[in-house]
Amino acid sequence: MNYRHAYHAGNFADVLKHVVLLALIESLQAKPTPFCYIDTHAGSGNYPLDGFEAGKTGEFKDGIARLHPAEKLPPLLRRWRDGILGSADNAEGLKRYPGSPLQVARLLRPGDSAQLCELHTEEACKLRDLFRGNHQVHVHERDGYEALKALVPPQEKRGLVLIDPPYEAQDAEYKLIEQALKPALQRWPTGVYAVWYPIKLRSQVQPFLRRLQHSGVKRVLRAELLVHPDDSPLRLNGSGMVILNAPWKLDDALREPLRVLAGLLAREHPATVKLDWLLDEAGSQLNTPS
Ligand code: SAM
Repeated sequence: MNYRHAYHAGNFADVLKHVVLLALIESLQAKPTPFCYIDTHAGSGNYPLDGFEAGKTGEFKDGIARLHPAEKLPPLLRRWRDGILGSADNAEGLKRYPGSPLQVARLLRPGDSAQLCELHTEEACKLRDLFRGNHQVHVHERDGYEALKALVPPQEKRGLVLIDPPYEAQDAEYKLIEQALKPALQRWPTGVYAVWYPIKLRSQVQPFLRRLQHSGVKRVLRAELLVHPDDSPLRLNGSGMVILNAPWKLDDALREPLRVLAGLLAREHPATVKLDWLLDEAGSQLNTPS
């Protein structure tokens, strides 16, 4: 377990992941009944952008920092960006980047809850410190894949699972995700499950998405943003979120924000977006992942 998210926090992949996350939380909040958020790989929760790790990679400069000065953002993107910049941490400029647990915790309504799993002891300690005294948020220092089975179905019966692992060994990680999803879907077939994945070579991702298409789930939406062509195994060319039991009209909520993000996050080539349904309401295949 060498991965530390502090080196990557706020990069272009985090931006995609967390904008999709906000769209998912907002769709859950369209109903007044409480929901549960489960983060299987939570990280430490809040990352300094002026520290050693972020300074070493500078990745946030091609991510959240590109949105910092942007004007005329679509409403979802504006809400997301302003939520980060509007925090007390960033009152004097972009100093910290909140991870998925903190972004969601700030949105919880009375009655909503969050279950956060983090296996790395130091990261889990920071996470626990961050949410000390917050009775809606529960931190578990344990394997998120293993915990998932025990955490679903949540008491609230409605909710979202974010699976955002480090992919230190890519093919092995896909297997772990699939092995964790199977019993979770059996126990809680109506939960929304969002899986983040890196894109280096397209051929590494396709088999995973195709297997998901044959896993008996419904309403599978894929949202990807690439800043380089997907033909090099040596760098992160893009990333994606695949959402199982995706809320109705999630694609409509994301279309314009992702188009604008592609413009803001482009490097030497125009960035590209893929936003499409891999499976529909009836579980019928709509697209073969390309
Ligand atoms: N979800 C976070 C966010 O968006 O801010 C970032 C998570 S980071 C990509 C992945 C985290 O998973 C790391 O902090 C790592 O220590 C942790 N981790 C690795 N294997 C794990 C496992 N099996 N269960 C729980 N956490 C794990």
